[in-house]
Amino acid sequence: PAWPEGHGMPYDQLQQILLNTPSAAKAREWSSYYTAGPHLAGKNLSQAVWTLEKWKEFGVEDTTLASYDIYMNYPLDHRLALLKKSGDGDKTDVTFEATLEEDVLDEDPTSSLPDRVPVFHGYSASGNVTAQYVYANFGTYRDFEALVNANVSLEGKIALVKYGHVFRGLKVKRAQELGMVGVVMYSDPQEDGPITEENGYDAYPDGPARNPSAVQRGSTQFLSILPGDPTTPGYPSKPGCERQDPYNSIPSIPSLPISYKEALPFLKALNGHGPKGADFDDPWVGGLVYKGVDYNIGPSPEDVVINLCNEQEYVTTPVWNVIGVIKGFIRDEVVVLGNHRDAWVAGGSGDPNSGSAALNEVIRSFGVALKAGWKPLRTIVFASWDGEEYGLLGSTEWVEENIPWLSKTNIAYLNVDVAASGTQFGPRASPLLNKVIYDVTGLVPAPNQTEGQTVRDIWDGQIATMGSGSDFTAFQDFGGIASVDFGFGPQEGDPVYHYHSNYDSAAWMEKFGDPTFSYHMATTKMWALAAAQLVESPLVAMSAKDYAVGLEDYLNRVEPVARGEGMHFDFAPLYNAISQFQDVAANFDAYAEDLNDQLGDDVPWYHWWKKVKLYLQIRVANAKYKGIERAFLYEPGLDGRDWFKHVVFAPGIWTGYSGATFPGLVESFQAGDAANATKWGSIILERINAAAKLLE
Ligand code: GLU
Ligand code: CA
Ligand code: ZN
Ligand code: ZN
Repeated sequence: PAWPEGHGMPYDQLQQILLNTPSAAKAREWSSYYTAGPHLAGKNLSQAVWTLEKWKEFGVEDTTLASYDIYMNYPLDHRLALLKKSGDGDKTDVTFEATLEEDVLDEDPTSSLPDRVPVFHGYSASGNVTAQYVYANFGTYRDFEALVNANVSLEGKIALVKYGHVFRGLKVKRAQELGMVGVVMYSDPQEDGPITEENGYDAYPDGPARNPSAVQRGSTQFLSILPGDPTTPGYPSKPGCERQDPYNSIPSIPSLPISYKEALPFLKALNGHGPKGADFDDPWVGGLVYKGVDYNIGPSPEDVVINLCNEQEYVTTPVWNVIGVIKGFIRDEVVVLGNHRDAWVAGGSGDPNSGSAALNEVIRSFGVALKAGWKPLRTIVFASWDGEEYGLLGSTEWVEENIPWLSKTNIAYLNVDVAASGTQFGPRASPLLNKVIYDVTGLVPAPNQTEGQTVRDIWDGQIATMGSGSDFTAFQDFGGIASVDFGFGPQEGDPVYHYHSNYDSAAWMEKFGDPTFSYHMATTKMWALAAAQLVESPLVAMSAKDYAVGLEDYLNRVEPVARGEGMHFDFAPLYNAISQFQDVAANFDAYAEDLNDQLGDDVPWYHWWKKVKLYLQIRVANAKYKGIERAFLYEPGLDGRDWFKHVVFAPGIWTGYSGATFPGLVESFQAGDAANATKWGSIILERINAAAKLLE
């Protein structure tokens, strides 16, 4: 449809400003600012204030801090050692003492900062345990199940697991449930595809392979149960508020992250003990065979034990979101853009500050448009979140505090966490926003292309479902607000991205990650254009039909789960409801399209008094688009994790990052609980019918 002229500026002129203003040089400047020193959650006030001032300078006058008092931990001390008990007394010899340090590299100044952040886990429990240990592959639910089935004794032992496949906190959760007393997690080069030292690639800083001393920090909160402050489920952590016992959503056993270099002695000490990894399945054998690791399961012999000591200080302390608002002509239709600012490490050039640099460029570009006379149709809110790394703290508390207003007004949330850490464009979204993603990827030049291809041309077109692991979670799963998350991540063959390590630094970004900042630029432009489309399009730029089609696709994925678990479930009523919803949705989209056509381009759309009736019809239609996602909220929440209210999307209970669709149903099948499956079948049916009714 034709874009209405008006609101100070024709739409295509706004698009040109958003495409032409972002500058790689500026993004690099913001990136260097954010990554010049530690900015851990709750310890980055100066960066929050700097960000606030920049946004005001860019032209967003209404920028403020929103702070919350959060229960969280900071590292005090740690030790990890391999011990050999000798004789029958208490005497032990230290076979290996881990440094728990990443190497200081001349080529990477960030790695030598005196105040760099120690290696530790967010929300890990303090403890000092000495015990035999077991190699548990990736520490997934299935991996631990395989050990139980093989009669490997787990109780009282420490688990040695690889990073990867599922969210790290869920590895600790399962180990804890099985009576284990601690977890050691390391980054096996098996996860690095072909780019390994074994294959002849030099390690960072000389080459693209993983530096053997790199350590992945990260949160061990049980994020599929509850994000946000673990002591204030569902309500904001305001000073003096009531606090709950967090035992349900954070670990009670200690854990530590280590490098593969320092995992080697522990792995090798298991050689010859217990079952072989090869007897389980391929992935149990990792990428260190060439270093002499046989990947035996263990347990380690009785006299070979690990001492794991983790001392954390728990405090209740402020975190600071920066919130900038550009008021639109329509105040009660709001689009929110957000990125987190806090990082595990002094750098954070990829995670999250490639996104922070992009956000600043998005805002600066909108500022240029404002100065050129643009008056936005809807309201835009920009957010720089704090505390994402510990458990989506800043975004979750902000959503919990503002839920009445967001629920009424928020049309969409656009998240960018890591804007640039590789070459693969990877969006995940509510299907309501598929259309926007397809549109804006077609408008932005693909980085590192010479023949004018757009991102759309080099992208496989796949849009993943929403799981968790970033700040969209509270919007999508708690607020029922259609959300999208995108950026460029590593794909096979790219230089290894040192996630949550000291080497996620400016030096790595300049040499390997995004030397020309062209991926930063592509993300910036798509983000700004997506926001513009959602803010300016008179009819909200969503497709109800896409949502309805998405539902069918998701249900198709649930059927095999039921079959696999030998459950009989009548899917017909759900398929029928979805099919009816598809018809209603298609009609509704057509009706909206028709309203759009009636607007025409002759009368500037903001001269609404000339078309009062049409204006009101459009407002009602937009309220319905906004309402579709809300219709899928079920207030009592999911079984055993009632903070999660969405019946279509949730993080997988045992995956965390990747999404479960129709989680209530899937989990009932997995539990073999037919009655519960029936219950969820009718809850979901009701929600689909409610969505259809809304659009009728
Ligand atoms: N991005 C963070 C991580 O993956 C999120 C932590 C969380 O969701 O708790 O570690
Ligand atoms: Ca809370
Ligand atoms: Zn991040
Ligand atoms: Zn992170």
